[in-house]
Amino acid sequence: MTIIMTKYKLANPVVWLLFSRAWQDRIHPQLSGRLAYLCSLKKQKLCISYGFRSDEEQIMAGMREMEKHPDYVKRSNGAIYNTKGQCMVAAPGNSSHGVGFSVDAPNTWIEKMTNAELEPYGLVKPMAHEPWHIELIEAKGVDMAEKRAHFYRYVAAYYPLDIRSFQMVNGLTPDNATGAKTKAKAAEVYNDVKAIALGKVTDSVKVKAFQTVYGLPADGSDGQLTSKKAADVLALLNKILGKPA
Ligand SMILES: [Zn+2]
Repeated sequence: MTIIMTKYKLANPVVWLLFSRAWQDRIHPQLSGRLAYLCSLKKQKLCISYGFRSDEEQIMAGMREMEKHPDYVKRSNGAIYNTKGQCMVAAPGNSSHGVGFSVDAPNTWIEKMTNAELEPYGLVKPMAHEPWHIELIEAKGVDMAEKRAHFYRYVAAYYPLDIRSFQMVNGLTPDNATGAKTKAKAAEVYNDVKAIALGKVTDSVKVKAFQTVYGLPADGSDGQLTSKKAADVLALLNKILGKPA
């Protein structure tokens, strides 16, 4: 399990961080808090071009990168590499942006900072060729499955269960709009969520999948906590689909 240390100092991200895509601000609260603290020491705001990025946005970022650099190579998993063989856009599902562990902050003052200088603040730049890409230091050496499990837990713990959270945990652009993809996803999961809310699901695989995505202990049993959460998700699905509650 990823251990997110809480020994680092935090400041209020609303004061210091500016997200160019406003809906991408739901990064891990430790990451936003630590970045804000560093900003407060430097008396500099931080412009973030990419924060949390959904799978859907990751695919679009790859397409934009290929348009800008026709000499880059797109590998079969969707990752984009430059001519030096460096990964420029990770494959969908394989980016630390997709789990809220990283930001891209192309600001000169932070690009100049070395890893030795960032370490005391719990931050790291894992790629020398991307001085704007900053991650939580705990992410080093942790595999994507663990990061993803942690992502679902922090979304549930720190952010309201709203349309954006639903979009985030389902790989959709968290723009808070009930577009066609968001409605289709809501319709797809509707019956299972309803059955879990009613305590009628005995298929532990289905229950586990639900528990994982909504940040509950994934024991596969449709207990009180799980059915209560499913009732809350069901209310949200009704809202997305425009059904009477
Ligand atoms: Zn990045």
